[in-house]
Amino acid sequence: MNVLYDVADKVATITLNRPEVANAQNRELLDALDAAWTTAADDPDVAVIVLRAEGKHFSAGHDLNGTGSRPDRITLEAVYEGEARRYLEYSLRWRNVPKPSIAAVQGRCIAGGLLLCWPCDLIVAADDAKFSDPVVMMGIGGVEYHGHTWELGPRKAKEILFTGRPVTADEAEKTGMVNLVVPRSELDRRTAELARTIAEMPTFGLRQAKRAVNQTLDIQGFYAAIQSVFDIHQTGHGNALSVNGYPILMKLEEMKKNLT
Ligand code: ZN
Repeated sequence: MNVLYDVADKVATITLNRPEVANAQNRELLDALDAAWTTAADDPDVAVIVLRAEGKHFSAGHDLNGTGSRPDRITLEAVYEGEARRYLEYSLRWRNVPKPSIAAVQGRCIAGGLLLCWPCDLIVAADDAKFSDPVVMMGIGGVEYHGHTWELGPRKAKEILFTGRPVTADEAEKTGMVNLVVPRSELDRRTAELARTIAEMPTFGLRQAKRAVNQTLDIQGFYAAIQSVFDIHQTGHGNALSVNGYPILMKLEEMKKNLT
């Protein structure tokens, strides 16, 4: 099972369960994750959703090695369609679930990993958490869902994109991207405590509070920016396809070496 699901005390806990590959995201994992979010959203007994990950790392990002065979010819249309569904629509849908959600992040959270925790309303980070988006190394200006500028502010966003260096949990807390930094051994307990506290609040009040904040961001341009930067991302894939016939410029082996 790529994703585990459990409900207790009005809290649904969704667990990424591919620790052997640092929770790298293949298609099956993302589809199972979306199904779990939908189940939690639809269940009247669920007031709060927690997203956590098994193992040392939250997520190493998209599983570029994949399990399927590589097609002879890749078109930008195929890349666009697949990414629009799994890397854009899924993240936006999770962001808009009308219930509070909390991500618990430990270890590395790389590129596509950000697409899983950024849509959550709150983020609790273990003190060993490191967030990074090294996609510029692959000739593309950042992952598909451009939370960078909103989460980190424009200067820090540019710095981490230009250098590919990770942001530590403490740094992420300073920019407002992370709510709380806790010792690694306390991550699950502290996240569960926070979830249970929120779950005691009136559900409609929570729904309205979430909508008020998200709607404010959308009026400031969040939704439009996310959409247009997704298309900027696709021009990166288009360039890579025209240069080497593959959607990224870097060789997979080199990239893997850089990510570990
Ligand atoms: Zn992409």
